[in-house]
Amino acid sequence: MRDFLVAGNWKMNGSSAANAELIDGIVAGLPAGSGFSLLVCPPFPYVAAVVSQVQGSPVKVGAQNVSEHEKGAFTGEVAPAMLRDSGCEYVIVGHSERRSIYGESSAQVAAKFVAAQAAGLTPILCVGETLEEREAGSTEAVVDEQLDAVLDAAGIDALGAAVIAYEPVWAIGTGMTATPEQAQDVHRHIRERLAAQNADIAAGVQILYGGSMKGDNAAGLLAQPDIDGGLIGGASLKAGDFLAIAEAAASIKT
Ligand code: PEP
Repeated sequence: MRDFLVAGNWKMNGSSAANAELIDGIVAGLPAGSGFSLLVCPPFPYVAAVVSQVQGSPVKVGAQNVSEHEKGAFTGEVAPAMLRDSGCEYVIVGHSERRSIYGESSAQVAAKFVAAQAAGLTPILCVGETLEEREAGSTEAVVDEQLDAVLDAAGIDALGAAVIAYEPVWAIGTGMTATPEQAQDVHRHIRERLAAQNADIAAGVQILYGGSMKGDNAAGLLAQPDIDGGLIGGASLKAGDFLAIAEAAASIKT
């Protein structure tokens, strides 16, 4: 059975004081039980402080982006080894905001995925379609292209040490959530695509849902057989909102 991962993507939000209050609130309110993990992904400048603040708690820390390069003359970039050195365990790659605002291609995302794993990080690979693509009936084709770029670059075995997040772009930050059935259909499709190459890896990989997940819709989404947690933006910025999703995960596992 796969565990749940409840991951908060703080995006470009927070401050030292606000982060400390948020982490205190999360750690103080952690639901009891097992079968789920919590992860927070702060902006780069706060990673080290958050790593030290969560020490002794089960909360893990990740980053929101990473360079595909190992080191050198890449002004403004952050190398995978630096994130690992700072205490990160995970890194998000290919978030739709990176793809659409910063023009990251699927090939570049795949290179980031490979570089992250080489440094000992677990990549969280984001895939998902826009509203226009969904309405045109090309959801699966879009997700396949994003997934295949990583499979081609890294190989199926690499997915055994990674997490996938299905994030329909039209649901991110909009308050429009995919229905549990819409999300499950895509999650099942992703797992079947991986299973065509390696059934064991497909069965073990965590596939998170992301897109306006909140305390009041998490239980329905997490009850789906191929949804293994959430990648959460807005609702990860308040301890109570984030914990409500963690509670939904905990109650399904107990
Ligand atoms: C995200 O940024 O990955 C996300 C899912 O955001 P939100 O939960 O705010 O839709």
